[in-house]
Amino acid sequence: MLACTYKKQGIFELTEKNRPQLLDSKDAIVKVTMSSICSSDLHIKHGFVPKAIPGITVGHEMVGIVEELGADVKNIKIGDRVTVNVETFCGECFFCKNGFVNNCINKNGGWAIGCRIDGAQAEYIRVPFANQCLNKIPETVSDKQALFVGDILATGFWAARISEIKKEDTVLIIGAGPTGICTLLCVMLKNPKKIIICEKDKTRRDFIKKHYPQIIITTPENCLEITNKECEHGGADVVLEVAGGENTFELAWRAARPNAIVTVVALYNKPMILPLPEMYGKNLIFKTGGVDGCNCEEILSLIEQGKIDTTPLITHEYKLQNIEKAYDLFENKKENVIKIVIVNS
Ligand SMILES: [Zn+2]
Ligand SMILES: [Zn+2]
Repeated sequence: MLACTYKKQGIFELTEKNRPQLLDSKDAIVKVTMSSICSSDLHIKHGFVPKAIPGITVGHEMVGIVEELGADVKNIKIGDRVTVNVETFCGECFFCKNGFVNNCINKNGGWAIGCRIDGAQAEYIRVPFANQCLNKIPETVSDKQALFVGDILATGFWAARISEIKKEDTVLIIGAGPTGICTLLCVMLKNPKKIIICEKDKTRRDFIKKHYPQIIITTPENCLEITNKECEHGGADVVLEVAGGENTFELAWRAARPNAIVTVVALYNKPMILPLPEMYGKNLIFKTGGVDGCNCEEILSLIEQGKIDTTPLITHEYKLQNIEKAYDLFENKKENVIKIVIVNS
């Protein structure tokens, strides 16, 4: 089968590989129907993910059809259309039992797919812990509607959940990339009084303006001024930092009011400074990523009810055979790309 493979730092290549096989009684083999490219794939490509193993098939956003099941998989049937969770988790360890599946202690736990075990930009994938990590897609939900459930939408959902958003809050989201938009959609479900989104890229700002006209939009340069103007207590009640840019962490805590919750979803390429003397007395509460991606069933139900729709994010479509072109487009942000669907035919 064809598989997009991490050869070495800086190089992904479409190669021929053997079809994966069941290795454990809790595994499933899924025939991938659609996958996508995530900025985390680019982090792997450029060597920012030390756990990623050269030779691995990349990709961790997908939907597919269950092809084979190990004897201990009971929650799903062969032939089911499914989402695949970016995080595989055992469901039995201390962290899993407390819902902190990102920290599952099993060797296949956490972000393994497309990083430490073969991923989704291929024709087939082996999914460990299939009872926890596959979710059946409801009849009325299309593959495209479900494509981001296991990764960026799970991230947005988790970020909104841990941020303790209340009806009277003004929420600032920094970053309107794909994960920022998914975060916005999930924050909107909490019905806060106001939402401000801060984004440096004009194309992305225009996208927000077009699709979510009720949202207040600002650039990083004007962000502190706008939050000051829009918020009653000297800053946002909740800040979600999804951008991961050079100065966006600093912007996040500066834009927060005293005693605010600052949720850091972003993955940085270098250390950030937490200047405690300067923020002394501001009494901030920081919460940090990565995602505990264990709400996929609930997210699928929200899509089924029409409460979340991520299909506007899909701007381009490529066949798996042409994935190298898709990477070029995505990495170089050509043609106002937001998300790409890789279709297997
Ligand atoms: Zn991702
Ligand atoms: Zn676990």
